[in-house]
Amino acid sequence: MASLYVHIPFCEHKCIYCDFYSIAPQETPIRQRALVQQFLDALKSEIGQRRQEDRFRVPYETVFFGGGTPSLLSPSSLAEILDVLASAFTIQADAEVTLETNPGTVNGEKLKDFRGAGVNRLSIGIQSFHDDELRFLTRIHSSGQGRQCVQDARRAGFENISLDLIFALPLQTSERWASSLRQAVGLGPAHISCYSLIVEPNTPLSNMVNNGRVVPVNTDRDAELYEFTIHFLRSHGYQQYEVSNFAQPGFKSRHNINYWNHSNYLGLGPSAHSFWRSGGAPGAAERWWNIASVPAYADSLWRRVLPVAGREELTLEQLIREEVFLGLRSEGIDVAGFRKRYGRDLLVEQKSRVETLLDEGMAVVEDGMLKLTSKGYLVCDEISASLQY
Ligand code: SF4
Repeated sequence: MASLYVHIPFCEHKCIYCDFYSIAPQETPIRQRALVQQFLDALKSEIGQRRQEDRFRVPYETVFFGGGTPSLLSPSSLAEILDVLASAFTIQADAEVTLETNPGTVNGEKLKDFRGAGVNRLSIGIQSFHDDELRFLTRIHSSGQGRQCVQDARRAGFENISLDLIFALPLQTSERWASSLRQAVGLGPAHISCYSLIVEPNTPLSNMVNNGRVVPVNTDRDAELYEFTIHFLRSHGYQQYEVSNFAQPGFKSRHNINYWNHSNYLGLGPSAHSFWRSGGAPGAAERWWNIASVPAYADSLWRRVLPVAGREELTLEQLIREEVFLGLRSEGIDVAGFRKRYGRDLLVEQKSRVETLLDEGMAVVEDGMLKLTSKGYLVCDEISASLQY
């Protein structure tokens, strides 16, 4: 199954830790409206050009609006994009349609209109239920707005609500993190994603770290908070199905699962990434990414040139390595499927390493899947690197 991703490159304000491509408001409302319109026109043009390619004439089971802050768009603009997508591509009737939502940009009415436009899943960037932590992250919303947003979303008819939270903030105590988790669970979302704060290069946060104004949390403390998170969410009925993602039964994100299964996805909008396998031959896959600039993206499309900034053909070895990495991060590697796709037997080729992981309680083999335990998730990157592919 395939997925569509649409990148909406606008934010109300740039958060100090963020390295996603997005632009803060222009100096005047007129310039802002012009830029949004330029983006929307260019996006339609990109969809129009991509629909001409035979390989993209497949059923799509998910559509994900990410960013940036997609919830800054008006519901009518979002409805228009969905209409254009639906007339260009085959989107399944039961498709999962997710909108990343910033609590500072919506109210009950707007959420109802998004629901009416066809969005059926919200991924709400709560990040913390403590106002001082939100201020440190330079988020535009308060903890009260976060809670209100979840309640409004439910009243607007959303059943499938996911909350994003960030832990391992500087000086964050265990009790404060536990309190955010308790409040999240208390709101009863179907899905929760928890990420530790990463200091990305070339962000204001990395400058603050470099000049000593912020001391990042060390890896032991990060691991301690992460371990607590896993146990807490599991004990409250959330199943972990990826390093950072937890869901109530029936509410795993189909879009994310497609990424982790190495399924095809087509990314649209500035900076969007795509992955596509061509035909049945193993190793025949490519990845490409769009220009990360609204004016340059639009300019390219006006010239009828696809706004691709770079692409790579994936070798068979790269695909194997990625599949191991993605499988271990999520619900495991289907050993028989892996053998069929690549003619390689993971349990034979990696026998001694796998046996060590099993003995150490880091991994299990269940129903033909090699998967990590919660202990293994803690050191997932090291385990992936230690498998010699
Ligand atoms: S709202 Fe999200 S995308 Fe926008 S700057 Fe903040 S973290 Fe980045």
